[in-house]
Amino acid sequence: MYPKLYLKRNKEESLLRRHPWVFSGALARADGQLEEGTIADVCDSGGKFLARGHCQIGSIAVRVLTFRDEPIDRAWWIKRTAGAYAVRKALGLAGSRETTCYRLIHGEGDMLPGLIVDIYGDTAVMQCHSVGMFVHREDICAALREVLGGELRAVYDKSSRTAPFNAGLDAADGYLWKAEDYPDQEEKIVLESGRKFAVDWERGQKTGLFLDQRESRRLVMQFARGRRVLNTFCYTGGFSIFALGGGAASVDSVDSSGYAVEMADRNVLLNFGAGTPHRAFTADATKFVRDTDGRYDMIILDPPAFAKHLKAVPNALQAYRRLNASAIAKIEPGGILFTFSCSQAVLADQFRTMVFSAAAIAGRSVRVLHRLSQPADHPVNIYHPEGEYLKGLVLYVE
Ligand code: SAH
Repeated sequence: MYPKLYLKRNKEESLLRRHPWVFSGALARADGQLEEGTIADVCDSGGKFLARGHCQIGSIAVRVLTFRDEPIDRAWWIKRTAGAYAVRKALGLAGSRETTCYRLIHGEGDMLPGLIVDIYGDTAVMQCHSVGMFVHREDICAALREVLGGELRAVYDKSSRTAPFNAGLDAADGYLWKAEDYPDQEEKIVLESGRKFAVDWERGQKTGLFLDQRESRRLVMQFARGRRVLNTFCYTGGFSIFALGGGAASVDSVDSSGYAVEMADRNVLLNFGAGTPHRAFTADATKFVRDTDGRYDMIILDPPAFAKHLKAVPNALQAYRRLNASAIAKIEPGGILFTFSCSQAVLADQFRTMVFSAAAIAGRSVRVLHRLSQPADHPVNIYHPEGEYLKGLVLYVE
């Protein structure tokens, strides 16, 4: 028996349409004291069961785990994890020899709201974005071990920066489980589409790598031959490696993080050895693009989320516009521009309109060649369109 929450009259519509969030304004009352992270049942005003989920303090009051009246026990966590794994199997990612890093669990997209699990070879790296998921981390770890079996030799929890700060969890990052012979110090190397990447989930951003650009990196490879490439916001050099792999004449990588730039150099060395035409700069990328007198015929713009919430969208759009306008103005005739936004709050249409005005500011003739999005291991729950966060365009600048 789970504690119950009752919706106000006529507020059940979105749950009936399987949207996985309940907003606090829709709730009439609760029976008993509900703490953040507890599992509760959401009922309509007449007391009929609608969904079961994790309670949260804030505007989203419940994140739904199931629309069925079923216990959330070990077997349930295993079932959901197995469901996510089946999708990655279908995609050819789980068990692939070419790509040994992928997203196994993508929050709402895998009907596990608030949970991210990325696979790096034999290690699962998990980030809880809600107290409810954090409370269940041992169950999640057990489910990962059950589903992945011998493929898995360690589970690392990296929730200290993603779990809500105000919940007083004192979350510390660390291994929830490791096999006895799991090596501690050795550099971890994974493959993406056959290319090597050194990954350090303890020091790196997010879970270690940005796995959501896999498909766009392959596309960069297709366009790169003979081009002088500028890869901005390069992190550990993902796009740079594929540009070089595709035969780029030279690649310059720019990131504000010294650690990222060091790793980008490391990854170039790992894949192509010394003497590769690659330079990495620790710098502000927006300024770099504005001020450079380098001649580039391919530019990649993959900034961090400039808008973390709706209120920040207008300023974010301005910053994106400035960046895109400089790149469009600077790129050589016949140049290819890859431009992205990973802000969930910036909608695809707003992004496109922003790029349109950037092109107008730069006064260049621009064609859209490709519209890009997140890859299939970052699926979108059809009832939760907010899950579509990554937008990109490939442009041909005449
Ligand atoms: N393209 C990368 C992922 C980019 S994530 C990949 O394929 O892996 C965004 C990156 O932007 C992070 O590495 C972050 O360190 C960097 N960053 C944030 N603000 C920046 C700024 N003002 N100038 C340059 N880099 C910045």
